[in-house]
Amino acid sequence: MRIEYDIKLGFKDVMIRPKRSTLKSRAEVNLERDFKFLHSPFLWTGIPIMAANMDTVGTFEMARALAEKKLFTAIHKHYSMKDWNVFSKNKPLDIENYIAVSTGISKNDSELLAEIFKQHPYLKFICIDVANGYSEHFAKFVKRTRDRYPDKVIIAGNVVTGEMVEELLLSGADIVKVGIGPGSVCTTRIKTGVGYPQLSAIIECADAAHGLGGQIISDGGCAIPGDIAKAFGAGADFVMLGGMLAGHTESGGDIIEKEGKPYRKFYGMSSSTAMDKHVGGVAEYRASEGKTVEVPYKGDVEATVQDILGGLRSTCTYVGAQRLKELTKRTTFIRVNEQENRVYSE
Ligand code: 5GP
Repeated sequence: MRIEYDIKLGFKDVMIRPKRSTLKSRAEVNLERDFKFLHSPFLWTGIPIMAANMDTVGTFEMARALAEKKLFTAIHKHYSMKDWNVFSKNKPLDIENYIAVSTGISKNDSELLAEIFKQHPYLKFICIDVANGYSEHFAKFVKRTRDRYPDKVIIAGNVVTGEMVEELLLSGADIVKVGIGPGSVCTTRIKTGVGYPQLSAIIECADAAHGLGGQIISDGGCAIPGDIAKAFGAGADFVMLGGMLAGHTESGGDIIEKEGKPYRKFYGMSSSTAMDKHVGGVAEYRASEGKTVEVPYKGDVEATVQDILGGLRSTCTYVGAQRLKELTKRTTFIRVNEQENRVYSE
């Protein structure tokens, strides 16, 4: 047994220190980024915020709404071939730049993935997602996927440490997804004791990825727009959101009414709700590692996106970053023991 004593930080442990700036208005801030990838020859331009590949968030409807604003959606893996065909028939122009096809590492998953790409070769992004990206088997799967799809942009995860980011990039991933346990409906830390505070995970993994010419996605733990700014400030190239995009018109999850008010169900992809729905229950050898919650219905996602992007533009003006790309360089985090004033929050 060994103990590491340097403190690892989460979003709530820091704030971003304001800096002198020549920017006059938020309108001057450009949130778009251009990326070249480590393996894939594609170039990408857009606002690097993503909807998570959860069946309550990574929906086709969400993708349509977010792509209009140049934001990205990792489409969840539970759509059938027929669903993809229907979607592709009236696909919005340019949608291939803003969606990824998600897959696990089972035989069924990879067969469906292959069929989706065979029938819809216009698609460009693959998101290979497992709860624990540390198995040797996973890195081998990433390698096989790279061999099979040499041009596609491959996202792989989740991990939280630099050495594993490097291994996945060297195995063929272009972008590594970072986050174990920070998610709003995740109970991994409760069930297993495993995890890594997200801000430190981003700082360490971004450093490893950028050294090799790869990118990272900070996945999970953003509860308010300020957390997204902190994730970018720490070095994330993309930020993935679950809970913040749940409960909208474009989200999935049953709509329920309680005391006259509408709610939408939101649940972790390893919750018993998700496992009952997709694989006929929680297998005997495992525990559910996700929660099921009901979130108040929030209306169309457009207003939430505007709120998020407005907050991020404002962060950039506070530190003098004219482009999102400059935010990390201009970020100094201060360690804090307080966050917002909660006198009027319930
Ligand atoms: P959020 O933005 O809601 O804080 O986090 C979203 C992320 O939580 C997802 O992208 C995914 O990585 C993670 N997640 C989703 N469902 C589950 C689950 O059932 N268990 C765990 N451990 N993580 C989950």
